[in-house]
Amino acid sequence: MSDKFDVIVIGAGPGGYVAAIRAAQLGLKTACVEKWIDEKGGTVLGGTCLNVGCIPSKAMLETTHKLHEAQHGFAAQGIVAENVSIDPKAMVARKNGIVKNLTGGIAGLFKANGVTTLAGTGKLLAGKQVEVTAADGSVSTYQADNVILASGSVPVEIPPAPLTEGLILDNAGALDIDETPEHLGIIGAGVIGLEMGSIWARCGSKVTVLEAMDDFLALADQDLAKEAKKLLTKQGLDIKLGARCTGTEIVDGKAVKVKYTDSEGDKELVVDKLIVAVGRRPQTNGLLAEDSGVSLDERGFIFVDENCRTGAPGVYAIGDSVRGPMLAHKASEEGIMVADIIAGHKAAMNYDCIPNIIYTFPELAWVGKTEQQLKAEGIKYKSGKFPFAASGRAMAANATEGFVKMLADEATDRILGVHIVGGIASELIAQGVIAMEFASSAEDLQLTVFAHPTVSEAIHEAALAVDNHAIHIANRKKR
Ligand code: FAD
Ligand code: NAD
Repeated sequence: MSDKFDVIVIGAGPGGYVAAIRAAQLGLKTACVEKWIDEKGGTVLGGTCLNVGCIPSKAMLETTHKLHEAQHGFAAQGIVAENVSIDPKAMVARKNGIVKNLTGGIAGLFKANGVTTLAGTGKLLAGKQVEVTAADGSVSTYQADNVILASGSVPVEIPPAPLTEGLILDNAGALDIDETPEHLGIIGAGVIGLEMGSIWARCGSKVTVLEAMDDFLALADQDLAKEAKKLLTKQGLDIKLGARCTGTEIVDGKAVKVKYTDSEGDKELVVDKLIVAVGRRPQTNGLLAEDSGVSLDERGFIFVDENCRTGAPGVYAIGDSVRGPMLAHKASEEGIMVADIIAGHKAAMNYDCIPNIIYTFPELAWVGKTEQQLKAEGIKYKSGKFPFAASGRAMAANATEGFVKMLADEATDRILGVHIVGGIASELIAQGVIAMEFASSAEDLQLTVFAHPTVSEAIHEAALAVDNHAIHIANRKKR
């Protein structure tokens, strides 16, 4: 194999593998370095997202949502389904099958597009050389005209709760739980905490979530956060705010005593398993030779400009290892932008229109600014809200919880944010993203024809409500 490439990508997560495929499609000779290996020593593509992140978590969320619907939603629809229960081992086996299918699919896509996989740990040397150390210790060096760093992120660990096989788990361990814990503890009421908590609460676990902050989902619109907290609490998640874990103790090798403090003082609880989900940090250890010309910021993220260029000419970095939200779609879009730039095309990314979704039920989804942000920035805005309880289709679907809220500029009517709590919020939010990407006004959506009966009509009604013209709810007379 020639050791010279137009593009070498380090990391085959949704940032790296998408960048590699796009670069190859654009006629560039491309290689992708990946260090992840399975128990047989085979290279594993797909990164965090496909293996221990987005996809496996959604597989288990879908299964347990169906369980919950069968146990709690069927009777109201006249469906008799008695003694419905879950086989957690079968659920995990199905999840593993989906992961295998998708990661194998990327190997197929690499082959189809002519991307060379280089198995091993990549390190960027000076002069755009990439050193690859294989699992057996052998070292090869390749020359590239361009390098894309896409090394992703790893979970943050906290000293009071060190990972302990089978008992204190990070996200990877959490996705392999295959027996319903009687009592599950979670540190961190962020995205992972709420998604994993939902999975096991639906299976019948008692779930306690300890969150250090006093505010729930502090970065989300607080209207959405308040509704989500109410609904998740109703589902059995015991979310304790202002609760900081101070230590853990393994009890008889089979349970975890968790010590924490909150506003009332020191407390403890005993759980069967504890998931630590307190955020992720960039994975950049050993990635860069000292003279690579690439620098890290104060939090360890690779320093890049708005086009993902690092300080070294021809070297780019994307995804979780650079600034911005740690989301698969953000990583992939950065990968496409960078491949296009390398191929000589004009490319840019709109960081103001990246959707956020939490796949609880109902789902939480948003794009653009929150009301808190608009207030803090002194931007005058109008707000329209439509509850799913007033949607005929949502009633038919037995999913009437939540709402669509739209925020628009008071002077220009341009849509500034869309916030949804609802059954298929993850799908509905794409309408808000497209509207904002095309700089739509609320009036543009008011004048758009939405099919009836659909849950999407809630987007139409929320846009109408921005100007107090909603049809299927009483409008507020004054703002
Ligand atoms: P990664 O996916 O982390 O991939 C980086 C790859 O680089 C890895 O395969 C790693 O082995 C490899 N690598 C690192 N260093 C080297 C090196 N030196 N040499 C060779 N290879 C290297 N995001 C969403 O948008 N939607 C979701 O629903 C969602 N759910 C999630 C659920 C969980 C439980 C978790 C943990 C995350 C979730 N995320 C979700 C976040 C998403 O997984 C990440 O944002 C995304 O994977 C980042 O992509 P990436 O390519 O930057 O990095
Ligand atoms: P997160 O940042 O979403 O939430 C971490 C939570 O832990 C925060 O609320 C934080 O205040 C709290 N916390 C931090 N230290 C704590 C401590 N010592 N004690 C108690 N609470 C503490 O992080 P995460 O849930 O670990 O997820 C990591 C990343 O993965 C996120 O950035 C997210 O973007 C991504 N992710 C996305 C999805 C999705 O898109 N649906 C799903 C899972 C993960």
